[in-house]
Amino acid sequence: MALSKKRIVVKVGTSTITNENGDINIRQLDHLCRALSAVENMGYDLVLVSSGAIAVGAGKMRLAQKPKDLGLKQAAAAVGQLELMHLYDKLFGEYGRLVGQILLSNEDVQNPERRENLTNTLNALLENHIIPIINENDSISHAEIESDKKLFSDNDMLSAVVAVFCEAAKLIILSDIDGLYDSNPKTNPDAKLISRVENIDEELRNRAGDSGSNRGTGGMITKMDAAELATSKGIDVLIINGQRPEQIYDILDKKIVGTLFVGKK
Ligand code: GLU
Repeated sequence: MALSKKRIVVKVGTSTITNENGDINIRQLDHLCRALSAVENMGYDLVLVSSGAIAVGAGKMRLAQKPKDLGLKQAAAAVGQLELMHLYDKLFGEYGRLVGQILLSNEDVQNPERRENLTNTLNALLENHIIPIINENDSISHAEIESDKKLFSDNDMLSAVVAVFCEAAKLIILSDIDGLYDSNPKTNPDAKLISRVENIDEELRNRAGDSGSNRGTGGMITKMDAAELATSKGIDVLIINGQRPEQIYDILDKKIVGTLFVGKK
């Protein structure tokens, strides 16, 4: 696969862009849109995979907690996706960037005809310097929010699938911690950040543990699954802290930040 050095997929999770009560963290979202717009202006073509629809919808509907019932989750996603895109459109617009929304389900990437349409749309958006913003189509599909047996069972895996589709050279996953640690930093104060991973093996998986917050779906394990898929296609995968999206500038300057999973050449 010939990867495009100019193409970068960035994945942001619910815990980075929402507050505890489900309201959008506008300061953080603005910070993210500003950094990504700056990277676009440097000549890169970005794709943003963004979660947050369910949490934002639940917050807007004033539900006491994140819904557990499937129908209610899908309703929350319908409400929240709109709000999310409204803000992305507005904030990216302030930095002079255009965005387009793509909502995907497993069938879209498994069916050859739909897959071709998806690839064509992604290419047309990127060639016109429009930032595609992608989420799972939660309101009518429930692979990600319910099941672990589908091609993408969470947005980490979705971001890896998208990176493969657009032949991106890099996938940058914004997390709520600084990267992959050798043990859980929330329970072990001596945990050390691993800056480079050449090979994802069982030992590494066991050490990674699960560090997900209760607002998102994925933890470190789903990020490692995503990294395994993307690196197998030659894509470099980075996990960095979503509170500091300007670290993407450092990545482009080839500085060491977060954890790099080296793409297999
Ligand atoms: N698609 C879900 C949402 O937008 C999130 C799934 C995930 O965090 O992996 O709320």
